[in-house]
Amino acid sequence: MKLITTRKELLEIRNLLYSKTIALVPTMGALHKGHLSLVDIAEKHADITIVSIFVNPLQFGPNEDFSKYPRTLENDIKLLADKKVDYVFAPSVEELYSTEAKKITANVEISNKLCGLARPGHFDGVSTVVNLFFELIEPDVAVFGEKDYQQLMVIQEMVSRLKLPVKIIPAPIVREPDGLAMSSRNRYLSEPDRKLAANIYKELSWLKENFSVENLETTKDKLEKLGMQVEYLEEHWDRVFVAAKLGTTRLIDNISIF
Ligand code: AMP
Repeated sequence: MKLITTRKELLEIRNLLYSKTIALVPTMGALHKGHLSLVDIAEKHADITIVSIFVNPLQFGPNEDFSKYPRTLENDIKLLADKKVDYVFAPSVEELYSTEAKKITANVEISNKLCGLARPGHFDGVSTVVNLFFELIEPDVAVFGEKDYQQLMVIQEMVSRLKLPVKIIPAPIVREPDGLAMSSRNRYLSEPDRKLAANIYKELSWLKENFSVENLETTKDKLEKLGMQVEYLEEHWDRVFVAAKLGTTRLIDNISIF
């Protein structure tokens, strides 16, 4: 496995790979089994797998966790080497944005709800960085997790609107044994909050079997009574979406209700 940190080297390597198919897995690092499941899928779809690791300042709001977001590059590289990933692209912020990136605005219909409300500009930042990675890496396929389902919708819409020559492959949510969706942010949770967090999936699973608008409300109350601050619990795209804060940690999850 080779680590690439500059745009110049990426371009040189990309030119050498002209006859190969390429799968990209974009991540912000602090990798866990959820990310690694995306790598497994990527490896089945192309000759070469490239994982990007980049904590993108454009997608964080001023009061969010950009500066304290976990950065564990050395360990991430070990995990990816074990998975036989071909290349890791991990540029610094200065390096990636050394040339001004084309700004992409996310589709308003998709981004004006759920996480888009609490995180204004978030999906524009995501779209801009993903489009830049697509420009630089020119992947044939890119894998995105359903954990961030609204992000997946935003990226799929961007690809079709801009007619980008890349196929987006969705990946199912990978969970801890107690059901909590794996996330780099789970490590922020205190021990009691980590236990409490299992109730998110428990309640989503219950809603899947007992879906009604009324039950959305009662479930929201239930989670709040348990001590979470529920930002939203709503149905869209035949799924139920939740964002909840436990202490200062904001977790998201979703489940298909069909
Ligand atoms: P992140 O590093 O959090 O930006 O995530 C990078 C990619 O991994 C995104 O496409 C996420 O949706 C995906 N991902 C993160 N956690 C999980 C999970 N538990 N299961 C499946 N995919 C995930």
